[in-house]
Amino acid sequence: MALRLRNTLTGKTEVFYPIKPNEVSIYCCGVTVYDLCHLGHARSYIIWDVLRRHLIWQGYKVTFVQNFTDIDDKILKRAAEENSTMLEVSERNIKEFHKDMDALGILRPDRMPRATKCLDEIRSMISRLAAKGAAYSKDGDVYFAVMKHADYGQLSGRDISEQKLNADGRVTKKEESRKENPFDFALWKGAKEGEPSFSSPWGNGRPGWHIECSAMVLKELGETIDIHLGGSDLIFPHHENEIAQSEISTGKKLSQFWLHNGMVNVEGQKMSKSLGNFTTIRALLERGISAMTLRLFILQANYRKPMDFTDLALEAASAGWKGLNSALCLGLLYSNDLNWPEEKSTSHKVSQIQETYEEIRQRFLDVLNDDLNTSAALSVLFEIARPLRSLANQIEREGIKALSDKETNDLYTRWNTLVELAAVLGLKGELKNRELPKEKNSLSQSQIELSIDKRKKAKAAKDFTKADQIRQELQSQGIELIDKPGGVTDWIKI
Ligand SMILES: [Zn+2]
Repeated sequence: MALRLRNTLTGKTEVFYPIKPNEVSIYCCGVTVYDLCHLGHARSYIIWDVLRRHLIWQGYKVTFVQNFTDIDDKILKRAAEENSTMLEVSERNIKEFHKDMDALGILRPDRMPRATKCLDEIRSMISRLAAKGAAYSKDGDVYFAVMKHADYGQLSGRDISEQKLNADGRVTKKEESRKENPFDFALWKGAKEGEPSFSSPWGNGRPGWHIECSAMVLKELGETIDIHLGGSDLIFPHHENEIAQSEISTGKKLSQFWLHNGMVNVEGQKMSKSLGNFTTIRALLERGISAMTLRLFILQANYRKPMDFTDLALEAASAGWKGLNSALCLGLLYSNDLNWPEEKSTSHKVSQIQETYEEIRQRFLDVLNDDLNTSAALSVLFEIARPLRSLANQIEREGIKALSDKETNDLYTRWNTLVELAAVLGLKGELKNRELPKEKNSLSQSQIELSIDKRKKAKAAKDFTKADQIRQELQSQGIELIDKPGGVTDWIKI
């Protein structure tokens, strides 16, 4: 089955063909660098990381470009609050962005242009739009005239006369009064007192938000790209505006495919700073949630649908990851003891066994080709991992067992297949947890129950660090906790 992707532009799931054979150009809308990244970013960049890995795995040469918006009202506001500069705030948050994305195992984009470094391209695109009669200047601002783009509204599939104004909150009252049509948007904003500004044919000022992506796509990837990515909150007006600007400016289609990921809710509510349920990636990792647990949690959901982030669901993902991890680590931990076959001397045997994994590999490929069905892909991984997990458990209980050549070969191929396919989803073994010293079964039942009670109290007091610490302490003593619905915690000896 060929790769099929849900294209927001047509509302259909379509077979993906790149413009140039074997090469794929991708642009992904990046972050406005005024703060740390949150769970919504984690979801978005993890799923697009899987898309990229999948394409690379299939042999495509992928060029992945993602921008940094480093000039924006939010950054200026943050700089004023901190008594620092726009540059200081954005430089710091770009570093933090890389730290978080690296921690999550997300492949770095090939190029990451910044708005302030693409001013020439931005200015020349605005000039082209003005020359074509699609931009007009008013009191130092330059606006895009949406009525000049015949297809305006196609991506969001809505009639603009029904749209609410100011959907992205980045438009001021003053701007509103200067526009010819309420849906027109600023391409260039005239300089304001005390704010950084840049020169332009329309006077000093700075670029609007939407134009930077259009200019960067053109600069980095050309007139028409294969895939444009972003969160579903960007469909309107941001992506609609990108299309209008780019397509009038170049006369070409901006992107063949538009893919959008769903939003993240927290315990059933929209995540927002005002509701106090805003979760940064950093806070989550500092709570001891592993990057792989978070990845598994995110990939269990359909990427286009909204997903609910709850402690219970996260714990379930953590248990799921623990099982998968024990299988992924088996080869790393025990390769010497199990005497893995040497690649060369046993290549014939290995290739014979590999055939038995062709069917499973094909199933994995087919589900990912079905608009990135990552939850089905995870099921395939769990299926491959099952016998490896049993062996890992057995080795922990009884030590290394002697295996026949056939068993060793089969195990080796199974483990290799698991590692290869897991890497397509960006999952790889985390050894740390398994290196904990274990004094098995040294705790009495009442000691265990006392710890469970303490952990329950810590969770009730929202002290998740302590709760996780208690769980880990028990784990190092060979006790695994299983949280069940209704706040009941069971335990088993491992
Ligand atoms: Zn963008």
